[in-house]
Amino acid sequence: MFKIAVIPGDGIGKEVMEATINVLDALNLDFEYTYGDAGDECLEKTGTALPKETLDLIKNSDACLFGAAGETAADVIVKIRQEMKMFANLRPVKSYPNTNSLFKDVDFMIVRENTEGMYIADEEKETEEGAIARRIITRKAEERIIRYAFEYAKANNRKKVTAVHKANVLKKTDGLFKEIFYEVAEEYPDIESEDFYVDATAMYLITNPQSFEVIVTTNLFGDILSDEGAGLVGSLGLIPSANIGEEGALFEPVHGSAPDIAGEKKANPTAMLLSAVMMLRHLNLTDEADKLDAAILKVLDEGKYLTGDLGGSSNTFEMAEAIKNNL
Ligand code: ATP
Ligand code: MG
Repeated sequence: MFKIAVIPGDGIGKEVMEATINVLDALNLDFEYTYGDAGDECLEKTGTALPKETLDLIKNSDACLFGAAGETAADVIVKIRQEMKMFANLRPVKSYPNTNSLFKDVDFMIVRENTEGMYIADEEKETEEGAIARRIITRKAEERIIRYAFEYAKANNRKKVTAVHKANVLKKTDGLFKEIFYEVAEEYPDIESEDFYVDATAMYLITNPQSFEVIVTTNLFGDILSDEGAGLVGSLGLIPSANIGEEGALFEPVHGSAPDIAGEKKANPTAMLLSAVMMLRHLNLTDEADKLDAAILKVLDEGKYLTGDLGGSSNTFEMAEAIKNNL
């Protein structure tokens, strides 16, 4: 039995979460769901956007499904990441049929370091004439994320891991990152390893994205390349993500609360459902993950039950129902 924390949050988060739990119910999983509050509405109701009970709930669960938080998103998710020491951010970049993807056959995972690099935001403005930002790279954190990327590759039958850096200029920090990458790579002789500069990678993502399988990179580069990846494969309503940590894991769509369509059942439930697929894989429920993944793909491929963002006329629950019927 797994304990799952469910945090629908604000706006379309509530709708896509309801639709997703409906679909998960049909998989007969041994899950115990506990609902928690977070986000704008929670702030209004309770005076805090992330109550201690919600944090405790996440801490005491095997995984957390998170919908969306509105204005408070940054506070809520940043705080959860910190509290739960979620060191890895995973963003799959995959093309689906009947979408605005630039290519038909893109399928890779970006594994982004989430705790250091530029994001320590250690900045100083010494005078009006200049400012300094420090960037931290430690053996401990980089080794952990690189090993995570290789383990991910191994568990998901991926043949290659690509390290992305700028070691030609940042010789000490990114030089260390690259050095650690090849040290760890030696432990995985069955997986190919390669490295590219971040500028070259930005180009290859457009010219030859099919060549990537797993990308591992430092915080800021991962942030930028993730959004490039999202642009590469199209709609915001399709992109899931995972935050993985020592004390817990959280799965959420990349989109926000979308106040412009909230409450109208217009939201595409796919990103939330694909986040659930990532959660199932994380919990080693591989058959169930494959089943749900295949059902989502089938509905996208058939193109009969699509939400408005994909040019269809189905609502959130109709699209989810079609996916459920294909399990
Ligand atoms: P927030 O502040 O919560 O991030 P936002 O206004 O930035 O809200 P997003 O959720 O980031 O809104 O969405 C940006 C745009 O993409 C909106 O126009 C929204 O309607 C659309 N969108 C986002 N998610 C989906 C989805 N799942 N299905 C359909 N359209 C979506
Ligand atoms: Mg947004």
